[in-house]
Amino acid sequence: MSVFKNPPCVLDSGKRDPTIEETLKAAGFDPNLCIQCGTCTASCPSGRWTAMRTREVMRKAAFSIEVVLSDPDIWLCTTCYQCYDRCPRDLQVTDAIIALRNLASARGFISDKHRKTVDLLHKTGHAVPINDRIRKIRKELGLPELPPTVYCYPEELEKLGKTLFQLPPRPEDHDEEEER
Ligand code: SF4
Ligand code: SF4
Repeated sequence: MSVFKNPPCVLDSGKRDPTIEETLKAAGFDPNLCIQCGTCTASCPSGRWTAMRTREVMRKAAFSIEVVLSDPDIWLCTTCYQCYDRCPRDLQVTDAIIALRNLASARGFISDKHRKTVDLLHKTGHAVPINDRIRKIRKELGLPELPPTVYCYPEELEKLGKTLFQLPPRPEDHDEEEER
């Protein structure tokens, strides 16, 4: 008897959503042309350091498996375009991943870290705000405690907050609201 188990089939991993195929095609990725050769995975610098496998992401996406939208792997792409340059079928892999992220975001599948970054932008105008340590170092260097950005112009920060995008609720929050 073989000690090896068959890996779970990606096609069993969830519901299909036709919007995914439309999104891929609009981004220049025709799912029917992907031959699952793995050149994208072999080219991927992110895949060398993480469990991300571009070919696998594209396989789930090509079959419009809904779970691809909540897959944290789609956020591990650095958008280096190496897979895009090397795909033997000239598929626009990177653009497809970006389009998947946009669709995922619209559905509320955004990592907590990305949510926190947007929250900081709303509150401070900076993705990486000035903390007490930096304020102290600036003072020691003879600089104003705060740089001349929206930090010094609260009224501009308020205006910025109104123009910045609002994130959609998390899918689980949405479900809870519907149950009430
Ligand atoms: S390199 Fe292109 S054809 Fe090969 S698996 Fe990746 S997306 Fe599909
Ligand atoms: S664009 Fe993204 S998926 Fe493609 S090789 Fe670079 S990091 Fe990997």
